[in-house]
Amino acid sequence: MTLETLAVCPACGSQNFLDFIQCKDYTVSHESFHVKRCGTCGLCATCPRPTTENAAAYYESTDYISHSSGAKSLMDRVYVLARHFTLAWKYSLVKSTANHRSLLDVGCGTGDFLAFAKAKGLTTFGTEPSAKARAVAQKKDVNVVNSIASLPTQTFDVITLWHVLEHIYDLPGTLDKLKERLNEHGTIFIAVPNYESPDAMHYKNTWAAYDVPRHVWHFSKNGMHSLLGNASLSVKKIVPMKLDAYYVSLLSEKYKADGKFTPAVAIRGLYNGWKSNLLAKREKNYSSLIYVVTK
Ligand SMILES: [Zn+2]
Repeated sequence: MTLETLAVCPACGSQNFLDFIQCKDYTVSHESFHVKRCGTCGLCATCPRPTTENAAAYYESTDYISHSSGAKSLMDRVYVLARHFTLAWKYSLVKSTANHRSLLDVGCGTGDFLAFAKAKGLTTFGTEPSAKARAVAQKKDVNVVNSIASLPTQTFDVITLWHVLEHIYDLPGTLDKLKERLNEHGTIFIAVPNYESPDAMHYKNTWAAYDVPRHVWHFSKNGMHSLLGNASLSVKKIVPMKLDAYYVSLLSEKYKADGKFTPAVAIRGLYNGWKSNLLAKREKNYSSLIYVVTK
């Protein structure tokens, strides 16, 4: 498999990448990947990483259920249950924070959030690069296209990226395209995992949210501020996703137990998720954070 190396930090332009951590791909290839950290702004990158041409191979797994709607194991059922709760929570955040007549969900997967927002009366569009996921989304009667470039400019009140930015290769180019499609008073919601969270510190290289090599970027607050600042976007507020501490801790425990989801794994995962949220309170360094940004 061909890999490529990153020379320049897309957030701050620094060439000062330092070794940070080495992680395993637990869900698809079981290969190891290095994560490097920008010594200037703190943005981390999976480096070297698969080229864009062969990245798709690392998404081919029955375990990767962001793209499927079928629930199989107990772990998957927990995920599906949490996802339903999370959909309503995300929608209420959007509704209480921004103008919200029209919405673009980038990396919409199987279109659950779009369908939820559409049922609430919003005009919705989605983008999703996976043809398989797009086909499932289209069955829910929502508009989904392959890429952002084909959508009209100055259109949307709200653009959402729910755990998507960490998968996108071209960060500055994508942020520019999103800015162009946001209307004057629009708001972008960007949810990403936080590698400085207490659960990341606890699990180290078994932290499930490294999810290499599908996650090509790994964010901290500093890294995100650097990236968004350079894209001339301003951060209005940062909202914690407390449920993610539980989900990521459960998954990390499962990886540590060689993929077996036992009652002991569940108890340890739930305990560590709870502990992460408790420890995160002080610095507001929760497992996943939503950056609410405007032009
Ligand atoms: Zn940097």
